[in-house]
Amino acid sequence: MPELPEVETVRIGLNRLLPGKKVGQVWHDWAKSFPNAQQDVAKFLVGATIEQVERRAKVLLINLDTKYTLVIHLKMTGQLVYRGEQNFGAGHPNDSLVGSLPDKSTRVILTFTDKSKLFFNDQRKFGWVRLLPTSEVPNIDFMKKLGPEPLSEDFTLKIFSDRLARRHSSAIKAVLLDQTVIAGVGNIYADESLWAAKIHPATTVQKVSKAKLKSLFEALQAVLRLSIELGGSSDRNYVNAEGKKGSYLGFAKVFRHEGQPCPRCGTIIIKIRVAGRGTHICPREQRLIK
Ligand SMILES: [Zn+2]
Repeated sequence: MPELPEVETVRIGLNRLLPGKKVGQVWHDWAKSFPNAQQDVAKFLVGATIEQVERRAKVLLINLDTKYTLVIHLKMTGQLVYRGEQNFGAGHPNDSLVGSLPDKSTRVILTFTDKSKLFFNDQRKFGWVRLLPTSEVPNIDFMKKLGPEPLSEDFTLKIFSDRLARRHSSAIKAVLLDQTVIAGVGNIYADESLWAAKIHPATTVQKVSKAKLKSLFEALQAVLRLSIELGGSSDRNYVNAEGKKGSYLGFAKVFRHEGQPCPRCGTIIIKIRVAGRGTHICPREQRLIK
C-alpha cells in the first residue's frame, strides 16, 4: 500500500501539473471507485478549475474552485497518472511504467479542457475518488480520527511521545502503524525507522527508553524525508503522477533484506511477524525488552 512518501510524491507531481486546469469531462466504470451523485458531478466537478493538490495522511485532496474537493484514497493498488494530450497511446513516455491509457484497471478519467487527462487506475478496486464540499473534508469520520502528520513543523518529540503513550502496553510497531496515533506510516517505514533506532518492534511502548524514543522520532522523519526525495517506494504497482517508479527500496536497510547482513553490524537480518505484519530486524541490535 502506498504510504506517506508515495502519496506525497504523487501530490508533488500533481500539484505541478494540475492547478489551473479546467475539468471538461468525467468518466468512470465502477460505482465503488467513484461513489458520487451524478448531479453533484455535473454541478461541482465538470467545469471546475483545479486550485491545488494537498495531502492528509495517505489521502490526496484535489481542491476545486467550486469549493468542492476530490478526496482520493489509493488503498492497495491505486494509481493517479497524468497524461498530456500527445501521450495517450503508443507515444507515452518511455520511462513511464504504465502503458497506453486507459487500460483495464482504469476506473475514473478526468479529461481537462486542454485535452490532457488524469487517470485513476486501480486493479484491486479498494481505492476511491469522492467529491465532497471542501469545508466538510476535515469532518468526515476517516479524517477526524487521523493522528498528526509526522513531517509537519509542529510535530515535536513531545507530541510523538505523548501520542505513543496512549497505547503504552502495545508493541511499538503496531502503534506506529496505527493511523489514529500518527498519520501515514506503514510497514516499510516502521521497519526502517525501528532498525535505525535499534528498537525491537515487539517491545511495548512503555519499555522503550526516552533516548530510544528520541532516536526513533528522528529516524522516522529522516526515512520519510529520504523516501520523498527518492520518489517513494515501488513495492508493487505504485507509480508517481508521471507513471514512474520510486527508488527508495534500493536504499532500504532491512525491509525485504532477510538473509542479508545488517549494514551496521553484519548480523543476518531475519523476518518475523509483529502486529500481524512481516517485520524485518537485526536480531543482534534490536533486542526485545520484556
Ligand atoms: Zn545489526
